[in-house]
Amino acid sequence: MEPHGTDPLTKPEPGRLSENFRIAVIGAGIAGLSCARMLAARGAKVTVFEQGRRPGGRATTLRTEFGNFDHGAQYFTVQSHAFERTVAQWLQAGVVKRWSGRIIALEGAATEDKTASATRYTGAAGMIAIAKHLSEGLDVRLDTRIGSVLHAGTRWSLLDETDRSPAPGGFDAMVLAMPSSQAAQLAGVPPTLVQHLRMVEWRPCWAGLLTLQVASGFDFAGAFVNDHAALSWVAREHDDSGTERWVLHATPDWTVTHLNMPSDDVASLLAQALAERFNFGFRPAYVAAHQWPHATPVRPLLERYLWDAKTRIGAVGDWCQGPRFEGAYLSGDALGASIVP
Ligand SMILES: Cc1cc2nc3c(=O)[nH]c(=O)nc-3n(C[C@H](O)[C@H](O)[C@H](O)COP(=O)(O)OP(=O)(O)OC[C@H]3O[C@@H](n4cnc5c(N)ncnc54)[C@H](O)[C@@H]3O)c2cc1C
Repeated sequence: MEPHGTDPLTKPEPGRLSENFRIAVIGAGIAGLSCARMLAARGAKVTVFEQGRRPGGRATTLRTEFGNFDHGAQYFTVQSHAFERTVAQWLQAGVVKRWSGRIIALEGAATEDKTASATRYTGAAGMIAIAKHLSEGLDVRLDTRIGSVLHAGTRWSLLDETDRSPAPGGFDAMVLAMPSSQAAQLAGVPPTLVQHLRMVEWRPCWAGLLTLQVASGFDFAGAFVNDHAALSWVAREHDDSGTERWVLHATPDWTVTHLNMPSDDVASLLAQALAERFNFGFRPAYVAAHQWPHATPVRPLLERYLWDAKTRIGAVGDWCQGPRFEGAYLSGDALGASIVP
């Protein structure tokens, strides 16, 4: 594999790693978990390290006292046959469901119905249901932020932010499953890999979260907003009590302009933008904002994964072959299958 024609990173060699090898995966997003699952299914001893309190990364669910919010990816679509088979199993297991709510696109006075433009899926109990399902049976260490990786002889070891080793004994291989620019910042990653990781640029995204205790009267579940400086997407979920939870995604330009603003101020501005664009007044019971510093890779590498066969370290994520949930899943799955063929 020679991503972008620079120094080659080679494919894992079949048979080179035995199934008793210990492998560390850093990042319990969809790519890290699909990689770990594939490795574990083939008999490898896998440990996943995740800095967050919950798995899922950008496809997780935030719990608040005013309800749960899928504040990153709210749904996913399926393009490939390989992923279609996986999603069919998830449907059968009750992990995901079809997202059947009305989806619209707004541009000026025009409203276009987009409900039938794609088949959309979401986690049966929020997006985190998928990460929880993928984590089942795996050794996932939450609340463990890795600060550096070290290669000595043929072994990898890692240190957390306090320079303590969360896994004495080391590993035979290492997989970095996080946004490429975060992986490039980890101390100890070989320069050839860093060079490729640095090729991908990222866009941030502010997400606004809102709970209304009265029904807004709208009938859509999601709206692409194509005519507003601040809002690019809004989603609305309601329950039997009439409470509505909204997630508002800001446009990339607006996010960049407001990158360093305190989150409370961002939350108020996004709530105002919603009231203005949809022309309705409300007094939210809850309003908050969350910044995704690495929301979307601008131009993915168009490689399924990166792998340095010399030191046995690889990297996976949506920035490899496709900037979405499906791309993340397939990237992790492909590297896992290659490391332990
Ligand atoms: C606002 C937003 C909206 C989106 N909408 C959609 C959509 O509608 N449809 C769709 O298909 N996709 C959507 N996406 C994209 C989708 O969420 C991602 O493509 C996918 O979840 C990426 O998964 P990943 O595993 O590659 O990375 P991530 O989800 O980023 O996972 C990386 C994990 O690594 C962890 N980590 C990072 N550094 C460390 C460290 N040093 N130590 C330990 N752990 C670490 C992180 O905490 C994280 O859990 C959206 C994303 C965002 C942000």
